[in-house]
Amino acid sequence: MLDLQISPATENKAIIIGGSIAGLLTAQVLTKYFDRVTIVERDRFPEQPEQRHGIPQAHHVHVLLIRGQQILEQLFPGIIAELADLGTPIIDSVADSLWLTFNGWTPRFASHLTSCASSRNLLEWTIRRRLAANDQIEFLQAAQVTNLLCNSNKTTITGVRVSFGKEPEAEILANLVVDASGRNSHTPEWLEELGYKSPQQTVVNSFLGYASRWYHPPEGFQADWQVLLIWPKPPKDTRSGVVYTVEGNRWIVTLAGVGRDYPPTDEAGFLDFAQSLRSPIIYEAIKDAQPISPIYAYKRTENHLRHYEKLSRFPEGLIIVGDAVCAFNPVYGQGMTTAALGALTLDECLSKQLSNQSNTNLIGFPQYFQKQLSKAISIPWLMATGEDFRWPTTEGGKPNLISKFMQLYLDRVLLLQADSAEIHQLFLEVMNLLKPTSALFQPHIVMQVLKQIINPRPQSDKFTDRENIPKYQPSVTPNIMSR
Ligand SMILES: Cc1cc2nc3c(=O)[nH]c(=O)nc-3n(C[C@H](O)[C@H](O)[C@H](O)COP(=O)(O)OP(=O)(O)OC[C@H]3O[C@@H](n4cnc5c(N)ncnc54)[C@H](O)[C@@H]3O)c2cc1C
Repeated sequence: MLDLQISPATENKAIIIGGSIAGLLTAQVLTKYFDRVTIVERDRFPEQPEQRHGIPQAHHVHVLLIRGQQILEQLFPGIIAELADLGTPIIDSVADSLWLTFNGWTPRFASHLTSCASSRNLLEWTIRRRLAANDQIEFLQAAQVTNLLCNSNKTTITGVRVSFGKEPEAEILANLVVDASGRNSHTPEWLEELGYKSPQQTVVNSFLGYASRWYHPPEGFQADWQVLLIWPKPPKDTRSGVVYTVEGNRWIVTLAGVGRDYPPTDEAGFLDFAQSLRSPIIYEAIKDAQPISPIYAYKRTENHLRHYEKLSRFPEGLIIVGDAVCAFNPVYGQGMTTAALGALTLDECLSKQLSNQSNTNLIGFPQYFQKQLSKAISIPWLMATGEDFRWPTTEGGKPNLISKFMQLYLDRVLLLQADSAEIHQLFLEVMNLLKPTSALFQPHIVMQVLKQIINPRPQSDKFTDRENIPKYQPSVTPNIMSR
């Protein structure tokens, strides 16, 4: 066994397992506290913003919520402008989106909700390029972590064992090991091997499947939108779709079906599925567009939460972040932003812990951090699972009273949203994790919801009428349209 001393033994080192979004954001935070941060990634990173094996999800639409975007900019100042320079459309989430929700088209007006619409590969590559310019960061590629190392009495994780394929395995030592290896993380088994309990797990599965294809818009195509979004309508209309404009004048078209209503991956079936959505506008946009990729499917979409915060015994020197702790149904676009919230939480926790102690003393840190992280995850988790419980086919529990109440309340808010610019904007702020859900319970909104209950707006199928598709209205501001 080779003891790979990548850097001098006196250095204060951290190792991150996995060089995807959670691993990269965590690395940036750790450079504040560690001399050296080594990212161990089993893939070889492409030189250009291209697909790699470990991130099959990059074929599909990846929305970075605005809260995530803010954190990204905080960690890497100037990165949004850099993405824009690389061709990423910077869009107004309201004005540039044509969006059919449960109860109709949403209004369109100029808002402050600016969103950066890049492909997942470009986003990851841009962050990686920033990190590569930092001497404290070291990338160990084509290197798969096969186990954790620990001290003789198994109280502290001291590093990782790494396999380089045909080469001999190596042991890399570190003061802190971070597992950012995603949904398929092996930490639960590794902990058991060391005599610890593995964490309880909660899985809520709506059996959603994606199929995605990339296109160039039809020649001469003119539209006043950058994003087309057709929601499903529980409990019966299980199908949804999105057209998302990314760099290089490309559309990523992702179709989705809940309750095992998986979209087909053959050309005719894909188009038929698009045509069967609640509005045919996606089909109409793509039928003459030029496909530039195969059709990719994805079905591992269950919400999966590992409760590390509940373990009463936990080794020192190890923390777990990103999808390895909590992976979401991707349809709500929360994974990368929650990873970013986790990176901020780590920064706050390390700053607090190390303000009292010497830099080498992280005793008790893992349990403290996992508890704080679980708080940061709780809201996105409730939002995702609460929505998934709208479907009778969802497995993994039942909505509790709070979830049921939230569903009923949100139904009313969504009804109002179709007519009120103010409520639409507020709803988007909550969805983008910019405001807490409590913002939807401000007295004047509750009043409007109550009015709506007493005097319900008839639910019509007006959304299928062509003339009801909203045009961008530059003159509308959020309080003009609200009732
Ligand atoms: C279909 C789909 C669509 C999605 N859409 C969105 C979206 O719109 N918006 C959004 O915010 N999020 C979305 N997500 C979620 C998002 O991709 C993840 O939340 C995000 O990538 C953060 O995950 P992560 O870094 O924790 O793990 P991952 O992205 O899964 O990365 C794990 C990394 O660890 C590496 N690795 C694994 N095991 C080892 C090992 N033993 N040794 C070394 N390296 C290892 C892998 O190669 C990989 O690079 C989507 C996910 C899916 C599946």
